[in-house]
Amino acid sequence: MYVGHLGVALAGKGWRREAPLWLLVLATQGCDWVQVVACMAAPGSSPMWSHSIAAVLALATVLLLGSYGVTRNRQVALLTAAVVVSHVLLDYVTGVKPTWPGGPMIGLNLYDHPIADFALETAVVCAGWLVYRRSLPLEVRGTRLAWLFVLALVGIQLLGAFDLAFLPRVPKCV
Ligand SMILES: [Zn+2]
Repeated sequence: MYVGHLGVALAGKGWRREAPLWLLVLATQGCDWVQVVACMAAPGSSPMWSHSIAAVLALATVLLLGSYGVTRNRQVALLTAAVVVSHVLLDYVTGVKPTWPGGPMIGLNLYDHPIADFALETAVVCAGWLVYRRSLPLEVRGTRLAWLFVLALVGIQLLGAFDLAFLPRVPKCV
């Protein structure tokens, strides 16, 4: 999953306004960023380091503690950890991810069905944006900028869908 993850961060922010959005974005993208760093350090790194159950729980724990250290708010810390876990749950729908060393790779691999993938990611990001939008001041909710924001996210996903549908598969890090 790509921009759908950002929908989860937006929904989290809409649900708990006191949660810093940057923290939720870090939580929702953390697994992929760990994988990018691992791939830069050692090209071809296994997603076991970033997307296995143990790796996700480790990252969730680190960000739970870090989040509590920054915000001193238990609900925000728990939300941050839950957002980390949501990453791999959504990845199990759109891709195929490892479970544990020697364990099976699991996932529905919606990437093989780009239209369905696009529909799901668009639905998740729009739902997250609608929850987030409720947290905005009334005078901001209906502005063009607020709508442009979600349209830009859907546009980015559309580019990703075209990539998946029409371009040759390139080895992806994430
Ligand atoms: Zn991922």
